[in-house]
Amino acid sequence: MAKISINIKEGKVAQEADLIIGIDLGTTNSLVAVMENGHPKAVKGKDGKNTLVPSIIHFSTATDVLIGDDAKEKLVSDPQNTIYSVKRLMGKSYHDIESFEKYFGYKIIDEDQDSLVKIRVKDKFYSPIELSGMILKALKHRIEQSIGKPVSKAVITVPAYFNDAQRQATRDAGKLAGLDVLRIVNEPTAASLAYGIGIAPEAAQKIAVYDLGGGTFDISILQIQDGIFEVLSTNGNTFLGGDDIDRAIIDYWLEINNLDDSVLSDDKNLSQELRLLAEEAKKMVSLSQNSFKRKLKFFNCQISPEKLNELVLSIAKQTIDCCKQALKDAGLSTADIDHVIMVGGSTRIPLIKKVVSDFFQKEVHDKLDPDEVVALGAAVQADILAGNQKDILLLDITPLSLGIETIGGLMDTIIPRNSKVPAKAGRQYTTSVDGQTNLKVSVFQGERDLVQHNRKLGEFILRGIPPMPAGIPKIEIHFILDADGILTVKAKELRSGVEQKIEIRSQYGLSEEEMAMMLLDSIEHAQSDMDTRALLEARNEANNIILSSDKFLEQNKEILSEEEIKTILEYVDHLKTAVKGENKDLINKTMDELNVYTTPLAHRALDHNIADSLKGKKVDG
Ligand code: AMP
Repeated sequence: MAKISINIKEGKVAQEADLIIGIDLGTTNSLVAVMENGHPKAVKGKDGKNTLVPSIIHFSTATDVLIGDDAKEKLVSDPQNTIYSVKRLMGKSYHDIESFEKYFGYKIIDEDQDSLVKIRVKDKFYSPIELSGMILKALKHRIEQSIGKPVSKAVITVPAYFNDAQRQATRDAGKLAGLDVLRIVNEPTAASLAYGIGIAPEAAQKIAVYDLGGGTFDISILQIQDGIFEVLSTNGNTFLGGDDIDRAIIDYWLEINNLDDSVLSDDKNLSQELRLLAEEAKKMVSLSQNSFKRKLKFFNCQISPEKLNELVLSIAKQTIDCCKQALKDAGLSTADIDHVIMVGGSTRIPLIKKVVSDFFQKEVHDKLDPDEVVALGAAVQADILAGNQKDILLLDITPLSLGIETIGGLMDTIIPRNSKVPAKAGRQYTTSVDGQTNLKVSVFQGERDLVQHNRKLGEFILRGIPPMPAGIPKIEIHFILDADGILTVKAKELRSGVEQKIEIRSQYGLSEEEMAMMLLDSIEHAQSDMDTRALLEARNEANNIILSSDKFLEQNKEILSEEEIKTILEYVDHLKTAVKGENKDLINKTMDELNVYTTPLAHRALDHNIADSLKGKKVDG
């Protein structure tokens, strides 16, 4: 096991420590921070003004890409090619986001409900990982310009509720940006560290982190003991924030001007101008407690502090309901909470602070900039990892990722590099062929996307799976890594109960230099690895779609016209040709076209089947 730092009681390490940067990769804005003279500091752009980088990407051509403030300006003028809120898509399948797909102004596609979403910009397809990688690259560039030297190591924050797939996606995005992601840290943990809470070992403390941004609300209840943060519960609303206050102000203005919202849908520019004015009014009135009065074309835009308070209160109440639920889930009451930390731009509103403080019956921590606090905490965590903070004992971690081979020779990481040891993780798999009774489990170590570039640790065969159609068996693979670096891999088919396991010494025969080389290699090849993975995944998805199209044709012959059958077969033929090639965008585009064509036909088939079964019922009855 590699110790990544030592407890240094006396002074500093001899050589200059590596600079590790802290990054808050946010839904709306992102920031990068570093330690400067013992204090975390968010880094400003070239113009020396803003620390926030809007998490927005604009493509004018496939290669001409703008990120941040410049891209934000295109949100209104070129929405189809301007990507925002990509964090909401990280590690998500189309199935996960179906309910809020309309929220996005750009095209999200996926033919297979269960595979990860892709974003279509013109004729190119991007994964959320690639897009987040672009934002991270811009942040890396910003800090390199500011300090005048290259950086390659980072700590990146994620919401406490992010699952393994979302965390892995964030790591991969970092790798694409040329960053070795030393740690993925929960945002509420980072916020606590920024306030210095949890750094010194002391008695267990319980912390509530209240994070109200522009579009999302999160409450996290943490417990800290001996420098270890544990998330006791999380709650929130992924569509609640300052934007809702702005919208409520606009609704109020419509009301006092006796207008309905058709004036907004008819005039997109007016609606954008009103949105900006409402935000300005909110900020001004909430801070000064004076009335706001302005005229915008035929609109009389005014709001008193009392009215604003009424609107804010309705949002605040909803957040308090989430806090109550989070406390309940953690089995705590407000009296158990030692600290309340405020995060997110909307916590600047004094009424929000008051409501939260009254609820928890405690003063809230609000001295740091609520937009920067998470990035500042990430920089503190980075500093701890660099071994610059005295008296902090770091835990053992896994130096390389551990995973198994999946279809197409891809590496599927189960325990990511830098996980704390002992570690336990598992994932469910299934078969890819009808009637498959054996499954080979090959275990690999390393950071590359294709197993052929990683190190094979061992393999075994799970035998005796009862024959079932492909996709039906549920095979759970568990990795357990103990403190001595012994990895136990267990595979179990849940329907039949058959199981098999092996034990492997994960570090056996691997020197520090070899590990460092494997790591460097993965960063160097991140882009080509990602391209290969995307191609293999697109092929895989296309093959599934070819199979399901054949099945669809077979089962619905009688309700399709000859013309429709012919067209589907043509599309399938195009797809078969595309699959043989190397162009993943072409495969995706052909799948998209086939999907657009067959969706209404599938609905027709469904209606037909329902009608049939209803008829059947009547006969039975
Ligand atoms: P975040 O997503 O954390 O960057 O938060 C952005 C939200 O904070 C937006 O809805 C802003 O309008 C809001 N915000 C920023 N500053 C203030 C302020 N002084 N008063 C009220 N809301 C603010």
